[in-house]
Amino acid sequence: MRLDKLLSNMGYGSRKEMKKWLKSGAVTVDGKPVKDGKQQVNPEHQTVTVNGEEVHYREFVYLMMNKPQGVISATEDGLHETVIDLIDPDYHLFEPFPVGRLDKDTEGFLLLTNDGGLAHDLLSPKKHVAKTYYAKVAGHVTEDDIETFENGVTLDDGYETKPGDLVILQSGETSEIELTITEGKFHQVKRMFQAVGKEVVFLKRLSMGPLELDPELEPGEYRELSEEELLKLQ
Ligand code: URA
Repeated sequence: MRLDKLLSNMGYGSRKEMKKWLKSGAVTVDGKPVKDGKQQVNPEHQTVTVNGEEVHYREFVYLMMNKPQGVISATEDGLHETVIDLIDPDYHLFEPFPVGRLDKDTEGFLLLTNDGGLAHDLLSPKKHVAKTYYAKVAGHVTEDDIETFENGVTLDDGYETKPGDLVILQSGETSEIELTITEGKFHQVKRMFQAVGKEVVFLKRLSMGPLELDPELEPGEYRELSEEELLKLQ
């Protein structure tokens, strides 16, 4: 890859700023100063330094966010704030995108990455990646609902869902539940409850595949995945 691209990816500044660093001789490749940002380097096999400090290259970034309500899980939106607007501009150089979508009024676990292969695997319908949601539902959620969800629910468009694992935490005028599904149809959780005549009034994703939302993250906060979490994804 181009030397200037590598350095700007690593947060050393824009390409324009990089030009200045390069011109001043602050950047070396395998011990030799390089002034031309267009030079191709292989960060896996060559040592790049800036002001004598080695650049530890990484290609991918993995962020776990507790998505807040009111924010769109997309990279761009003409009107509303997106999850990308919530992250430090230094990360924007990696061009991360959200892995899957949460509704504007849904909060909770959202993975942001520029690792297209991983995103594809997590979202592929063939992989049946489990996603667990916590919801508050208007009305009594019953044992019958558990059974209905277990057998698959017919949504408003006639789609028959795969089995969902419904756990009732509390049943009352407003019930609290956890639901695990292995698909990601549009508004799926809300539509599953709609199919049994109930309305989801609050929805939060707790986990996706092997990753669980860090309870320390307040809505709108995010952090990089730990080594341990990254290993779980392999
Ligand atoms: N199901 C929904 O209805 N909404 C979401 O945001 C996620 C799953």
